[in-house]
Amino acid sequence: MSRLDAARRAVATIRERESGPGGLNAFISVADPHNLAVENEHGPLAGVPVAVKDILATKDLPTTCGSRVLEGYRSPFEATAVRKLRAAGAVVVGKTNMDEFAMGSSTENSAYGPTLNPRDRTRVPGGSSGGSAAAVAAGYVPMALGSDTGGSVRQPAAFCGVVGIKPTYGRVSRYGLVAYASSLDQVGTFGADVRDAARLLQVVSGHDPRDATSVDRPVPDFEAAVRTGVAGMTVGVPEEYEPAGLDAAIRSHFEAAIETLESSGAKIRRVSLPHTRFSIPTYYVIATAEASANLSRYDGVRYGQRRMGDGGATLHNLYEATRTQGFGAEVKRRIMLGTYALSAGYYDAYYGTAQRARALITDDFRRVFAAGVDALFTPTSPTPAFKLWERTADPLEMYLSDVFTVTANLAGIPGMSLPIGTVDGLPVGGQILAPWWQEERMLAVAGELERRLAGGVR
Ligand code: GLN
Repeated sequence: MSRLDAARRAVATIRERESGPGGLNAFISVADPHNLAVENEHGPLAGVPVAVKDILATKDLPTTCGSRVLEGYRSPFEATAVRKLRAAGAVVVGKTNMDEFAMGSSTENSAYGPTLNPRDRTRVPGGSSGGSAAAVAAGYVPMALGSDTGGSVRQPAAFCGVVGIKPTYGRVSRYGLVAYASSLDQVGTFGADVRDAARLLQVVSGHDPRDATSVDRPVPDFEAAVRTGVAGMTVGVPEEYEPAGLDAAIRSHFEAAIETLESSGAKIRRVSLPHTRFSIPTYYVIATAEASANLSRYDGVRYGQRRMGDGGATLHNLYEATRTQGFGAEVKRRIMLGTYALSAGYYDAYYGTAQRARALITDDFRRVFAAGVDALFTPTSPTPAFKLWERTADPLEMYLSDVFTVTANLAGIPGMSLPIGTVDGLPVGGQILAPWWQEERMLAVAGELERRLAGGVR
């Protein structure tokens, strides 16, 4: 059996199942089975089929970011994370569906239609990396790449019952990751289990001179960290992440997981991160401000689609028609919000205040970690996967599904989600946060929980 067989089989299964009535719409494009190649027969992922979120630039497949404005766009270069994947022997089987430009929590904002949750097809897979999470949960691939600006890897991992990691800001190159909010964006990994997500992170991590925000630090052995156990570790439980209104079933799985960690030898410490209440408004001012600048490049001249309105062949009409027809409602809403927050009279009131709040949120983490807390444990999302179209009418309610995940991006710390139980058959995720560059601690906690809860995840 050749190294390519598993990848060929994965592509054939995706093509067959996704084109039938059981399709999840998890992919925007699927690789041509005749074009597959293993670049490194001896690499750590030789022949492993991997799905890639359609926000990472690839040469062989289009890169749309879930947007009409980039329909059919082909990048002349590859994202560093994708290049590293291929160099490790992995085979890219397709580009996964996502909320347009990664703006959303449900994959319903894709111009290519929503992805369905493989655990319950009437529900969303989470977002924005919903296609990648669904592809792993459906068993199409053991691993997938996503991006996480405010929870877009961890929240869909929780909704689909798989593992998702957002590394420390700067751990993985953003070269070729189409920018949404540059100070928050980070490439993340999905795995069917903790080890798979860790192995993929191992391959894509490391310094890249092409990304000035990537940091030159040694990459530890993430897979080994999964097996180290938690004896002697101090795990903090922040009170702000267990609000009174938290779903009762989520609370009970969460409390049970804390007891499990304690019985494995971890010390549990209740802690407070008092500025958490500012996290959603802070995130949505900073993310939209950065997005409004980043998305100005889609002007009909440089990338993808070009439209000309009825008003004559002027540059203004070109910009207006391209952007009016190319962007969906949520992207337009965010460009307007962000432009307003950065406008001359309001810059300090909104953007300046948000930057100060971001510093306070970051200091909360610094303080608890300096006081001897090795890692923090929280629920990943306040609810399990919600019904399709249930929240689209109310953007504010949609934004609140990120309430536990955005803080890690604001501070730049690593975070991950793993399954800790189910509610009426729907997966529940637990989130682990660790200090900057301490992914190993987070993986140790996740590995221990996964081993102890195995079979016991109800
Ligand atoms: N749901 C959040 C948003 O819409 C986070 C998205 C993400 O992490 N890309 O901005």
